[in-house]
Amino acid sequence: MSETIFGRIIEGEIPCHRVYEDDHVLAFLDVNPLSPGHTLVIPKEAVPTLDKLSEESAAAIGRVLPRIARAVLQATGATAFNVLQNNGPEAHQAVFHVHFHIIPKFDGKGLGIGWEPMTPDAAAMKALREKIAWAAATETAKG
Ligand code: 5GP
Repeated sequence: MSETIFGRIIEGEIPCHRVYEDDHVLAFLDVNPLSPGHTLVIPKEAVPTLDKLSEESAAAIGRVLPRIARAVLQATGATAFNVLQNNGPEAHQAVFHVHFHIIPKFDGKGLGIGWEPMTPDAAAMKALREKIAWAAATETAKG
């Protein structure tokens, strides 16, 4: 199992406010929420970032995320929420075990977003599309 704090939560060594659990997934309240009901959904598989996650764990998380989001909305009365998933320290990741934040937005609380869009030229967009599409096809071929 992972040596992160979340690995220890999965193992039951550290307590959490658990809201959902199955064979592959655990969800619990964030200890320092951005808003009441801020919930973390994690795979039991111990990998640091989403790109390392197995398809089996990814499918298990994808299956329950909408369900847990509905539960958070129902319990808090919020009608809006963000799903946040940080990968790498530069992207604000602090715990290196994959996790999805479900953060209800209400009463002025929740995720604040700094969004500074660029306006790339058409040639740059075309070149990037080709590189990413080629890499995605290669990943798919690997199976
Ligand atoms: P990150 O920045 O890595 O995406 O977010 C990690 C999150 O884990 C933070 O929101 C932080 O409050 C939460 N967290 C860190 N340690 C614990 C813990 O021991 N228990 C719980 N429930 N949440 C934690």
